[in-house]
Amino acid sequence: MIVADLHLHTQASDGLYTPEEIVSLALSKKLTAIAITDHDTVDGIDAALAAAQNTGLLVFPGIEFSTTYEDKEVHILGYCLNHKSTVIQGLIKELNESRFRRLEAMVRKLRDLDYQITLDEVLEKTGTAPGRPHVARVLVEKGYFPNIAAAFDNLLEKGRPAYVKRFKLTPQAAINAIEAAGGFSVWAHPGQVEDDGLLTKFITYGLKGIEVYHPEHDAAQTVLYEQLAQKHHLLATGGSDYHGDNSGQRSNFAEFGLTRRKFDIFKYYCEQIRNTG
Ligand SMILES: [Zn+2]
Ligand SMILES: [Zn+2]
Repeated sequence: MIVADLHLHTQASDGLYTPEEIVSLALSKKLTAIAITDHDTVDGIDAALAAAQNTGLLVFPGIEFSTTYEDKEVHILGYCLNHKSTVIQGLIKELNESRFRRLEAMVRKLRDLDYQITLDEVLEKTGTAPGRPHVARVLVEKGYFPNIAAAFDNLLEKGRPAYVKRFKLTPQAAINAIEAAGGFSVWAHPGQVEDDGLLTKFITYGLKGIEVYHPEHDAAQTVLYEQLAQKHHLLATGGSDYHGDNSGQRSNFAEFGLTRRKFDIFKYYCEQIRNTG
């Protein structure tokens, strides 16, 4: 039985539900623990901690950084970190600013190409992670393109005239920041990258765990990552990567995560680094 779902998104990033709603959901499923792991933000954590007070539910602070390693997108989870640490707050700020600067540069290029578009129009469309889709949406609304894909193909895709390179966070930088904030790093859903050779590299950077249980992993991958965790003495973690119910899709909230025995190891590990950190 799953007692801990350690990979959850809230409205603080791209989840459908508020931190309070996620806590209620966890209570209704009778979970022992959850971790809030929003993309590049810790804004949902305090609300979740507050909502879980006196309920018996344990809430672990977390984060999920999108990093790039040799053109591969690698997600790094941070757990049990001090989410108020200046290192984490500084890195998040840097990521936000770089996103904003990239938007600015794209709009400038588009205007040079005679597209009537302003930064304000793009910003009106954005939520927590402004990017190319928001630029594309404005271009479609203004009638320049029939759909978002066409705007990408003509202008926004890599190699096209309005493309601007993204600031790239490396796995190493993310792992370092998480460690400096007193937490530890876990490679999220490694099955999506399918390059297990990277694992030994990330371990030299300070990676402490691997996300074994995840909806994107099939049975064979789950066994593989269980074995790799054991072989490299890594913590095995897991979670549903829940973003909210998509219409037609069954909710997998609390269906992926850790059993009691594995969760006890996770919890013990968190307590250890808290005490030594
Ligand atoms: Zn991810
Ligand atoms: Zn995720």
